[in-house]
Formats: sequence, C-alpha cells, structure tokens
Amino acid sequence: MKHASNLPTPRNEPIQEYLPGTPQRARLKAAIAEVERTVEEIPVLIGGKAITTGMTVDVTAPHRHRHVIAHLHQCAADDLQRALDGSVEAQRDWASWSFEQRAGVFLKAADLVAGPWRDRLNAATMVGQSKTVIQAEIDVACELADFLRFNVHFAERLYTEQPDSAAGTWNRVDYRPLEGFVYAISPFNFTAIGGNLCTAPAILGNTVIWKPAATASLSSWRVMQVLLEAGLPPGVIEFVPGDSAAITRAVLEDPRLAGIHFTGSTAVFQSLWQDVAQRIDRYRTYPRLVGETGGKNFVLAHASADVDALATALVRGAFEYQGQKCSAASRTYVPKSLWRAVRERCLAQMATFRMGDPADFRNFLAAVIDRRAFDRLSGWLGRLRGDSGAKVLAGGGSDASEGWFIDPTLVQVDDPAHRLMKEELFGPVLAAYVYDDRRWPEVLELVDQAAGYGLTGAIFAQDRAAVAQVAIELRHTAGNFYVNDKPTGAVVGQQPFGGARASGTNDKAGSILNLMRWVSPRTIKENFLPPKAPHYPYMSAE
Ligand code: NAD
Repeated sequence: MKHASNLPTPRNEPIQEYLPGTPQRARLKAAIAEVERTVEEIPVLIGGKAITTGMTVDVTAPHRHRHVIAHLHQCAADDLQRALDGSVEAQRDWASWSFEQRAGVFLKAADLVAGPWRDRLNAATMVGQSKTVIQAEIDVACELADFLRFNVHFAERLYTEQPDSAAGTWNRVDYRPLEGFVYAISPFNFTAIGGNLCTAPAILGNTVIWKPAATASLSSWRVMQVLLEAGLPPGVIEFVPGDSAAITRAVLEDPRLAGIHFTGSTAVFQSLWQDVAQRIDRYRTYPRLVGETGGKNFVLAHASADVDALATALVRGAFEYQGQKCSAASRTYVPKSLWRAVRERCLAQMATFRMGDPADFRNFLAAVIDRRAFDRLSGWLGRLRGDSGAKVLAGGGSDASEGWFIDPTLVQVDDPAHRLMKEELFGPVLAAYVYDDRRWPEVLELVDQAAGYGLTGAIFAQDRAAVAQVAIELRHTAGNFYVNDKPTGAVVGQQPFGGARASGTNDKAGSILNLMRWVSPRTIKENFLPPKAPHYPYMSAE
C-alpha cells in the first residue's frame, strides 16, 4: 500500500555480529571504553533546555558497582510543573505539523540509531544495564530502530482507515491526538522500550512526559539526544528523571493527564490504575491506561519434544540477560520420559557459561541490575538451601564483592504449586517440574492455573495433535505463544508483544493496536447537498 507521502517500507534492522578482528568490534570496544572513563552529567530536559538541578544520584555499572558512570540530576517539583505546562503548550504546534513532517523526525532518529549513534547506544546499555553485546544489539540498535520505523508505518495505516460516504456527503475521521499529555514510565531492562513508550504517542501528535528508570538513565539520555538531533521540537518529550513516587503523584494530580504508557512491574501498574481511579472526576478526559507488566513464563515439553532444541531454548530463554526479560522462561514442565536427557543437556550447556563484565565478549551472563535485585534474588536462593521440596541442580550462588552477580540456577521442584512456579523472580532462575507422562491433560491445567500472569509461553512437541491441543487449551495463558521456540526475543513487526491477565493491558507494543490507544478520533460528516425543507417526499399528496 503506497500513499502520497511515499514512506519507506519498514524492514527489521539487521543484527551486527561484532566478530573478532572486525572494525565493528573495535569501534564498539572504543565506545565502551569511553563510557567507562567518563562520569556523565545526565540532566532534566524541559522545553528543549537541559537543566542540571544539582540534586543527583550516582549511576553505577551493575557488574562493577563501585564504578560511577553518571550523576543523574533529579527533577524538582517546580521544574516538573513547568514540564507539564510546557508539554500542553508544545502540543498546539506539534499536533498541527503534517504527519509527513512528524514522520521525518522519527525516521531520521531510526537511521541515527542504526548508524552514527549505534555504538554509543550499545555501549551505554552494555555498561549501564550490564548487557552482553548481543543483548544490547538486539535491544537498542535493532529494536529501537524497528519501533521507530514500524510505528511510523502503522500510524500511516491507522490514518488511512476511513469510513464510507453516501452520495452527496463526505465522511472522514480526524485522528486527533489525546487532549492533554501522555505520561511514559519506562523499565530498566530494555532501552528500546523507553524509546518506544515516549515516541509511539508522539508520532501521533501527542506530547509526552517521560520518566526513565534511574538504572537505565544513561542509555535513556542517549535516546533523548538522538531524538533531539533528529529534529524533535522542544517540549514534545520532556525528560524528567527523579523520584518515581513524587513525580508520579504530581503528574497524576494534573487534570490534563490524558494517558499513561507504562512498562514495569505489575504492582506499580496496579497502583497507578488505583491512583487514577481515585482521581477520575478531576480529569478533563478519561486517561488511557496502557501497561505491559510482569510474567511467569512457561516452557511446556510434550513427550514428543526434540530434546536438544528444548534444552537450548530453556537455557537461552531463562538465562540471557540474567533472566531479566519480562518474557524470560522461568518455569518448565518436562515429562519423566525426557527429563534425564533434558537435565543433562541443560547442565552441560550451563557449565560452559562465563559470567562477568560484558566488555569481555566471551561472557554469556553479566550482573543483575542493582542491589535491590541482588538482595531479592540471593534471598530466594538462600531460602532454597533449606527447602526439602526444591533441589538445586546447578547454580544457587551469588557474589556481590565486585558486581551484582547471581549464578544461573536450575531448580527441580516436587510440588507444581511451589512458589518458584508462581511468582516472578526476574532473575536467572529456572524452576522445573517433572510430570508423569500419563498425566498430560492435568499438566495443561497446571500450566494454565499456576500463576496469575499471561505473558509468554512455549510448547515443545513434534506431535502436531499435541501442539493443536495446547494452542486451544492454553489460549489465554500467554499473549505471545511459541511453538518449538524459546519464549523470548519478540521482534517488532513480526511478533507484536504483550500479555493479558496480570501481565498487562495487552495493547501489543510495536503494533497498530498500541497506536490506536493514542488517538481520540473525531468523525466529520460534510453534506454537499443539505435538504432545504423539513418535509420528506413521501408526504406529498396522493
Ligand atoms: P518497576 O515497576 O520497578 O519500575 C518501572 C518504572 O516504574 C521505573 O521507571 C520506576 O522508576 C517506576 N516506578 C517504580 N515505583 C514507582 C511508583 N511507586 N510510582 C510510579 N512509578 C514507579 O519495574 P522494573 O524493575 O524497572 O522492570 C521490571 C519489571 O518490568 C518486571 O516485572 C518485568 O516483567 C516488567 N517488564 C514487562 C515488560 C512487558 O512488555 N510486559 C517489558 C519489560 C519489563
């Protein structure tokens, strides 16, 4: 479908390999070294002006927690008020830009991400969020460029969705941005998600208040710098790092709040929803609430599963980025007939993993994000030591002397209702329940009922009938369902992402469904031949 604006057809950004001896690798290493030797000042950005408030928190590298990489300036209450006012003011101009002109900003930003900013974005993510090369590359360089390019394309498709017109009339839908500002709150674990949360509404003419996660603030600031270089006008996205609870309280008090675009934990999203509900009579319009939240993602193996493919999916799905993906595999159900082979292959693969600084490209894992995550996860591992219903088959250790390191851990549980099978741990811990092959139908019910989430899940089976049965019976168990593949690694434009139940509003990031939440359509009917008398023709004399 081509339209007058002739937008380029979006394509997924190819993944670069950074092989030994290549210039790509040398450039990325230089960018990492630059992050490591600098202590950057990350400002608040309001109305296009960088403000250093002087109230700062240290941003550290998770794998070397005494190493400060930035001072994050905290947004003060009066600055935040200016940001809210400025955001509403900026919308007057921004919403009047033609779609092509707005699109041009984001398409340029995508090319900057994939080109001249690629190494700087990857390096900030590797050092700041402790991601290995491949994890940074698929997150920032590829997924962020994809979000920007595909969302522009989806916006164009949305605008072309128009009603019919009867003879003598012209009907059309004006896809207005929301009246007020959108509040975007991003998680630490994907740089691209922060970029998407603030830009998706902006593509449609909204203005946005973006509160990044402190632990991802260096890469988030890089994203902001890219958007400015791409020509984003002042005030369209206000960048307000700082105290989450205080900023949120002030933002939610404002009657001009028109929407929340959130990704993070279930508990925080539920508290946002409750806070909005309590103030519902003060808002000018009903705020759109879009939240993608936690998961307790399953890998279900049928007795016909390919054991090698299953074991690789388990270790990659559970341990890449230290299990800190909302989509990470964290519970698996394996039939007794396959368990021994699956366990041995998983343990053999895990034995080859190195863990450490992501700047050493041989490492498969790095550190978890911060002390809070480390304490939570090492607490779980500590409790497992005294738990007779859980056998730690690999890992189980932790070490905070240099960085926040948690060993990749495989645990076999006796009880399918064990807490490890229900609660999101958000770390490199995979729980396995071994079932009797004859109890397959009951296992389907266990998988569906064990946890309150509904994000991702996978079935491994070569028997097509088993795949078909799971697809139907677990229809509501996962918003992203994989057949013979790991449950992580969704690609924009290929697997629209999100889940229901406690996992969120399932508005599918990186799809037209998400963009629909950021418009408030106005229907316009124009009558070319309006009637000039009240009587209908049938009322004439016989
Ligand atoms: P988090 O909920 O702790 O933080 C997310 C954001 O909310 C951060 O910006 C944080 O500063 C802010 N926040 C924290 N407390 C707040 C409060 N009281 N009021 C307002 N804002 C507050 O989550 P996180 O640790 O950054 O990310 C991990 C969580 O995110 C996991 O549960 C994971 O499953 C989820 N996640 C989900 C998806 C998805 O697409 N479903 C994607 C990524 C992450």
